[in-house]
Amino acid sequence: MPTDFVIDTAHPVAVTGANGYVASWIVQELLDAGCTVHATVRDPSNSRKVEHLQSLAATRTGTLKLFAADLLTEGSFDEALQGCRVVLHTASPFVVRGIKNAQRELIDPAVQGTENVLRSVNRCESVQRVVLTSSVVAIYGDVADAQGRVLDESHWNTSSSVDHQPYPRSKVAAEQAAWAIAEGQSRWDLVVINPGLVLGPALTRHSASESLVIMGDLLKGKLRTGVPQLEIALVDVRDVAHAHVRAAFIEQAQGRHVLVNQTLTMLQMAQLIGQQFQGRFKLPKMELPKWLIWLAGPTQGISRKFVSLNVGHELRFDNSKSRQELGLEYRPIADTLAAHVQQMLDDGVVRG
Ligand code: NAP
Repeated sequence: MPTDFVIDTAHPVAVTGANGYVASWIVQELLDAGCTVHATVRDPSNSRKVEHLQSLAATRTGTLKLFAADLLTEGSFDEALQGCRVVLHTASPFVVRGIKNAQRELIDPAVQGTENVLRSVNRCESVQRVVLTSSVVAIYGDVADAQGRVLDESHWNTSSSVDHQPYPRSKVAAEQAAWAIAEGQSRWDLVVINPGLVLGPALTRHSASESLVIMGDLLKGKLRTGVPQLEIALVDVRDVAHAHVRAAFIEQAQGRHVLVNQTLTMLQMAQLIGQQFQGRFKLPKMELPKWLIWLAGPTQGISRKFVSLNVGHELRFDNSKSRQELGLEYRPIADTLAAHVQQMLDDGVVRG
């Protein structure tokens, strides 16, 4: 498939959840290209959440327009979508800790929010393409689901529920809702991006993204006694942004796209960071035995079912569709980790 594309700067481009960790990089790329970005945020007057976007816009050729929109408020995306041909829907909570009511805090905003945005798309005649930020966890739920298989766009998460792995449940349910709505009409097409755990420098210091929490835990020494043997599919945030922009403007782009560069264990991630930042952080140096994590997990809010089905299992992905059809070239994960750590040091988020 041809991967040449031209970014359409004649029409505004809508980005939902524009202040988020992933979306901020998408907005930057669109502003760099000279686009007018209709950026939805929950509260445009919350300067903590939007000032980094305003700073980006101040030094770039594109134009930023902020719109207030909440996933759970029917019709609140209507105004932002006016005149847009492309809508990038990234807004969705990526929180996995301290969840008290998974249905209300995760699944409802993800699923009802996606339905709400796509109902706005259906009402807005100018829209021709929607790019949805899904996840690899819409492809598998527990790592054990992947056993003996190389996962690709044909696989679906069938094991997650509101009680077990609610964040993966929120992503697969939202993606399925999006496909159902897309198939009910013919004016716009849906292209889906399914990233692994996104790492790399953040443009915002005020995101609740689990990506930033995990890196903080690693660098602040919270995991120094040891980590589970847990394989994680990783991808650079800048590659994720490129993939969204390509999915938006490559005319032939279609379907889902696994976005994973490499799968590493938490210990391998720590070792890569250790090699580049010799002795500056209290990084984990060993893996804890699975039986110990199984025993102690519940005291740390980790269920024994999660430990059984995720620790010590192999996770493999086939990313060839993203390389061939989106023309994506992945940057090395060692560079991703180094840039992420350096940004956290520069911003004073961690000390080393
Ligand atoms: P993030 O920084 O927390 O961004 C999430 C965005 O969603 C924020 O803008 C947030 O707004 C918005 N949002 C949450 N609830 C909302 C609501 N009720 N109404 C309107 N907006 C709401 O997290 P991220 O890591 O960038 O995640 C962005 C997307 O990528 C999500 O769809 C996530 O599932 C997906 N994803 C992320 C990863 C990863 O590793 N980071 C991997 C795969 C997929 P506030 O700032 O106001 O809360």
